[in-house]
Amino acid sequence: MTERTVLYLDGAWVAAESDETIPVENPATEEPLAEIPAGTAGDANRAVAAARRAFPAWAATSRSERAELLRRLHDGLAKRAEEIGETIARDVGTPLRIATRIQAGLPLTDIQTYVDLLEADEREERVGNSLVVREPAGVVAAITPWNYPLHQITCKIAPALAAGCTVVVKPSEVAPLSAYQLFDAIHEAGFPPGVINLVTGYGPVVGEALATHPDVDVVSFTGSLRAGSRVAELAARTVKRVTLELGGKSANVILDDADLKTAVKVGVANAFLNGGQTCTAWTRMLVPGSRQEEALELAKVFAEGFAPGDPLDPGTKLGPLVSRAQLERVRGFITRGISDGARLVTGGAGTPEGFETGHFVSPTVFGDVRPDSELAQEEIFGPVLSVLSYQDEAEALAIANNSRYGLHGAVWSADTDRALAFARRVRTGQIDVNGGAYNPLAPFGGYKQSGVGREMGRLGLDEFTEVKSIQL
Ligand code: NAD
Repeated sequence: MTERTVLYLDGAWVAAESDETIPVENPATEEPLAEIPAGTAGDANRAVAAARRAFPAWAATSRSERAELLRRLHDGLAKRAEEIGETIARDVGTPLRIATRIQAGLPLTDIQTYVDLLEADEREERVGNSLVVREPAGVVAAITPWNYPLHQITCKIAPALAAGCTVVVKPSEVAPLSAYQLFDAIHEAGFPPGVINLVTGYGPVVGEALATHPDVDVVSFTGSLRAGSRVAELAARTVKRVTLELGGKSANVILDDADLKTAVKVGVANAFLNGGQTCTAWTRMLVPGSRQEEALELAKVFAEGFAPGDPLDPGTKLGPLVSRAQLERVRGFITRGISDGARLVTGGAGTPEGFETGHFVSPTVFGDVRPDSELAQEEIFGPVLSVLSYQDEAEALAIANNSRYGLHGAVWSADTDRALAFARRVRTGQIDVNGGAYNPLAPFGGYKQSGVGREMGRLGLDEFTEVKSIQL
């Protein structure tokens, strides 16, 4: 068991105000992994005070000074990449191969992006007789979830620090251990005291203290719609800037001329990545009615290739769900989906054989899912794929857009122009055409109730700046 009983405030590891702790569990074995401090509102206040004190000097540093510190942080994380992958395989249950490649790899890309942007030209614009400049927005509270626990932090702190903001990080209490590894690297990199602080704890305690604190200028939140809208409501009282990265129910639209086998194969892999606990997961697969049976046969074969296994085994593609609560929630969706009349093609709500310990569920595929049903509307956050059929392209578009979310999606066609024209009509912040690759420089964020604002790339940096017009 790892002992992580401290917070990181003002450049040092310090004790929390209270002795209360939060247990962290290994979801594959249900064994305790660690105890972390249950931070208090007082701890959050200490962190904000440290960040506020550090802000003027940090905001005044040069771009090259900030780039140098971020480069050191990048190298410190790169050195720990293997260890971080293993940690996330243990506290989230992400299969080791994915944990190393994505969970430990993506944070390095996040940081490198902003080192590169700091080294590029500064953007100042002349508009008539005005000089328009960008300045750091102030003290940032970063509140993050458990599913990609390190990436969700680095994609906020890298642009915030690059912009000249100071930061308080409140990681998820469910999978907080990689945040400690990050702060080991931050300490080693030598950021000035107070520039970046860590307060662990529960959302309604530490998260709400940050969202209401008058000295916090920006709240950058990633997590559920429920908690995100609460944070926005609280932050509105002191007119903070709030960015929200929330849930999704993304559609993978396979048009009638597409290579069905490839589209289904990539679609299943996308839906089951990290056990389906991915905000961008393509959990609705839309297929032409005439090809539904063929698509379901393929989906069944590919889904069954995601057999549950020990996340630490390098061959495993599907680990456990992160917690008992998440398992019960996912099982509930599957049970209600069956009773609601959807056709269970593979999987189900039962415990997979040989996995009585741990929060495992079988990869599950439903056919004949109705567009307005719970299976098609709610973010399940487990390895559950819903296949829906449509009659023509107009209906496919209507179904794709029939969601309160608008985060991501995909479209497949033999004709790239046709797919692109379709992609333009889908109301989401990102969409991949014919399996277009993930681009870490592209703005990331949601339409509708998937969120407000954009992360990544240059727009990600803009979220942490204020704009000033100086008339000359
Ligand atoms: P969650 O909303 O329960 O928790 C997210 C964070 O918010 C945690 O740090 C939590 O402690 C904190 N929190 C909870 N209640 C709070 C409150 N009242 N005030 C302030 N903070 C509070 O979400 P989760 O279960 O950790 O993560 C899963 C959710 O995150 C899913 O809905 C998923 O789609 C979403 N997500 C979105 C993105 C994206 O970029 N759009 C990325 C990853 C995850």
